[in-house]
Amino acid sequence: MWGSMTATPRFSPWIPPLLLLGSCAVTRVPPHAAASRFGSVHAADPAVASEYARILDEVGPVVARAVPGLVIEPVDLRVVNGISDTYHMETQGQFAGATFERGSDKWVELRSDLDPAARRGVLAHELVHRWLGPAWTSLPPAFEDGLADVIGDAIRGEDTPRDRMRSFVACWLTLNGTLTLDQNAAPIDPDEAKFAITFRADIQRLKPAEIVDTMGRDLVGYHSIDDPRRFAVVAVLSRRVMSHLSVDKLFELCQDAAAEGLVRVPVQRIFAAAGLDPLDVGMWNGLLLETYGLEEQRAFRQEVDVPWDLAKPGGIEGVSFHLQATVEF
Ligand SMILES: [Zn+2]
Repeated sequence: MWGSMTATPRFSPWIPPLLLLGSCAVTRVPPHAAASRFGSVHAADPAVASEYARILDEVGPVVARAVPGLVIEPVDLRVVNGISDTYHMETQGQFAGATFERGSDKWVELRSDLDPAARRGVLAHELVHRWLGPAWTSLPPAFEDGLADVIGDAIRGEDTPRDRMRSFVACWLTLNGTLTLDQNAAPIDPDEAKFAITFRADIQRLKPAEIVDTMGRDLVGYHSIDDPRRFAVVAVLSRRVMSHLSVDKLFELCQDAAAEGLVRVPVQRIFAAAGLDPLDVGMWNGLLLETYGLEEQRAFRQEVDVPWDLAKPGGIEGVSFHLQATVEF
């Protein structure tokens, strides 16, 4: 179902901690192996291989239960210093993990420097890619990532408020160009003064029609996005759509489309089932605002106390933005 001549990776697209371009060019199997009930793990260090085998034993059954229509096959998991660069990787940044298929070879790579808190979630994300069976073939790749993120989040536990705040700021600026927070709002905490902060991003805005286009693309089209920021933002947005749609409902849409002989589920069906109008930027803003509550506002104020170098690309960790800020206290 995926390309057979070239290894076809599917990624964990939200990239901690920094979007760095370029990655490793060679595919190789690390020397030390450890066995898991769900396959084998290879790493440069035997203790790391054992640790990931334990994580695979723990995460595997949860993923297997969470998604219908999986084909649970033994996993070849490789813990590597850099994700293999086999497919248009230059512009896609540095990924936390990836799932590859090359002919009958299928393997998963995870970065060896992942934060311990992130490992379970990234592995769960990749296991969804690895195990999605023929019943899911009609799922558009952007929504496959959304589904994988939903499962990854459920296993990892919630992002921190700081993570959510950063995703919120990045996505909001990409959609709206400016962001004004808490202007004239009551203080979040009683001992804090009122403040207003406005960000403007020197970036091309992402229009709703472009979001819809990206979410409806096939794998090659999805991976041909040459702006890593857009790739990451669309992944966050597809995860937001999934928050209004059950995994079972998405599965049903895929099966119905396949039964009709469609290659992919028309994305409009996915939005309709979620009760969302994707051409309305207010709808996208509303989905983002669902992730921005008091905890995230507090996290944002803590960031504001830190002097961000907002003129520098990457001023918000993980997002390659050029920002201009006006801060008033
Ligand atoms: Zn992915």
